Amino acid sequence: MSTHDHRTPGSPAPVALGALAGAAMASYLGVALVGPWPVRFPRSPAPIWPALRRSLGVEDCTASGCGYALTFDDGPHAQGTPAVLEILARERVRATFFLVGEQLRRNPTLGREILAAGHGIALHCDRHRNLLRLTPWQVREDIARAQATIEDSTGHSPTLYRPPYGVLNASALRVAWARGWRTLLWTQWGRDWEARATPASIAARVTDGVHEGSVLLLHDADDYSARGSWRRTAAALPEVLETLAARGLQPVAP
Ligand SMILES: [Zn+2]
Repeated sequence: MSTHDHRTPGSPAPVALGALAGAAMASYLGVALVGPWPVRFPRSPAPIWPALRRSLGVEDCTASGCGYALTFDDGPHAQGTPAVLEILARERVRATFFLVGEQLRRNPTLGREILAAGHGIALHCDRHRNLLRLTPWQVREDIARAQATIEDSTGHSPTLYRPPYGVLNASALRVAWARGWRTLLWTQWGRDWEARATPASIAARVTDGVHEGSVLLLHDADDYSARGSWRRTAAALPEVLETLAARGLQPVAP
């Protein structure tokens, strides 16, 4: 697949996209195409081509550039989300949960529970698929369905967006821009989806090089990763929070 697959005849890029350097978009999507896990990521995709991402309005730091934002993707999960919520409540740390529509339909009360606990909710996807494998129509449908599920279930309209695997394409960017959403990736991740991950490895990775403005990615569900991975994430969380506090970083909304 190449980048031109994302634009079908009769579906021209909007003005904003057309104004972008074609080469920049091609490079960005080219990077996304070859990089994403679970294929094999040498490192987090977020540090790749920061100037390029910014030119597309894709963010990877907190809006204020201060503190750190803790984010959880792939939930809500019947056990993983409550486990994470319990630790966050105990440690008095607020986080943001990038929800999956199909997960929320399976666990319809958890979105409200996340909000009631003072955390933020954001949109990840409806079904957890690599956008580069979808048609523009499928991308729009997926995002719209996830948005409707989140709004119906929680009464809250998401304003933050992050696609599966951090892989974007023109269709998804267009939807986010049209809705006025911020698209947020991350600066650190715990690789907590891997079967070989341990609480210690997760805590070490997700806090490695953390700085003011960092956005940390973890997962509170195991539906798209190694079975039981949320248990290791939850087990790592106290050490993660302790390390961040010891470095003088405050949790903030992204
Ligand atoms: Zn995900």
